[in-house]
Amino acid sequence: MNIHEYQAKELLRSYGIPVPHGRVASSPEEALAAARMLAGPLWVVKAQIHAGGRGASGGVKLCSNPNDVGQSAAVMLGMRLVTPQTGPEGKLVQKVLVEQGVSTVREVYAAVTLDRTSGRLAVVFSPNGGMDIESVAVTSPDRIRTVYADAAHHVWPFQARQLVHGCGLSAKQEQYLTSVLCTMLRLAQEKDALLVEINPLAVLPSGEFLALDAKIQVDDSAVKRQISVAAMEDFDEVHPLEMRARAQGLNYVRLEGCVGTMANGAGLAMATMDAIKQAGALPANFLDVGGGAKEETIANGLQVMLADGQVRGILVNIFGGILRCDVVAHGLARAAEKIQISLPMVVRLEGTNVEAGRRVLQESALPVVTAESMADAACKIVELTEVRA
Ligand code: GDP
Ligand code: MN
Repeated sequence: MNIHEYQAKELLRSYGIPVPHGRVASSPEEALAAARMLAGPLWVVKAQIHAGGRGASGGVKLCSNPNDVGQSAAVMLGMRLVTPQTGPEGKLVQKVLVEQGVSTVREVYAAVTLDRTSGRLAVVFSPNGGMDIESVAVTSPDRIRTVYADAAHHVWPFQARQLVHGCGLSAKQEQYLTSVLCTMLRLAQEKDALLVEINPLAVLPSGEFLALDAKIQVDDSAVKRQISVAAMEDFDEVHPLEMRARAQGLNYVRLEGCVGTMANGAGLAMATMDAIKQAGALPANFLDVGGGAKEETIANGLQVMLADGQVRGILVNIFGGILRCDVVAHGLARAAEKIQISLPMVVRLEGTNVEAGRRVLQESALPVVTAESMADAACKIVELTEVRA
């Protein structure tokens, strides 16, 4: 789960990390009023969307008077901002953050992220922060330094100090940065974050630091126990199909491919997605209907996939155990009674009550092609949809 920059900054502030004075606004009038409450002579207007790369795409504007703030907010609010991270459809801007602008002498990068390979939190620092951090990672990876926390999510201060040493900072600045990095690690651990990123962390003319940008991503599986973070969720940022699936208790994640995929069990769903990729196409979603699925769950899942404009074919892969194959077949048939299904559909059923399930499918109005194995099912749907990637 992502939260907005202004919310991430509230969290940073609550941990004692300095952030600019600012207010969030949903209209140009609010933005103007916010600017008037902040001391100048510089103001910054920032589009609040769940994507970075705004600076180079018109989502961050420096203004030299409050009227400019109002005008910049009027341009940004309601627009679909396209950045390298949004995809071509962009993201609708519904809020802007108005901040007191500062002049900076330098920008560094600081982050804590979960390293999935080692299963540990990694503390990352680069003296070359700012908007070009991605190209720094490519052209001078040695400018990005990492230290891994131990299994108890702990990093010794001397390790953090090594990250920031030799970057042209004073001893006092090094000491302060060390404490910021350790605080970010504590925040990541306490809030179950997958990412806590400050880019840029600006060095001010006074030598002090200020977090000009903040990005925090919290583990979806931990949202239940992170009540204060859960309350920050912006439902406008969640895809409507994911909202619908969530309301129906479906385990659904929308992806970028064209083959809608339904399976029972997360493992089987993942394996099915792999099989589709191996057959040369990309899955349009992850959908695990689980062991306790009812006919209705199956019907709902199929309808969610069919409501997705990018889906060109459907693959249902069920290994009947607790979830019986005839229940799945009835669910699919039930959905077919409600909506016209014109997309190709391949169903592979195996396990409990498989014969009964196959009979139901044959007698239904579904345009179903059956398959013998997972690989066979994947090849068939890719052939039928002609969407080889
Ligand atoms: P991103 O491009 O989406 O990551 O947006 P950022 O919040 O990082 O803003 C982009 C850039 O705007 C930053 O790298 C800074 O260089 C600049 N910026 C943001 N706020 C200020 C500010 O208060 N003063 C100055 N001088 N630059 C700022
Ligand atoms: Mn940034």
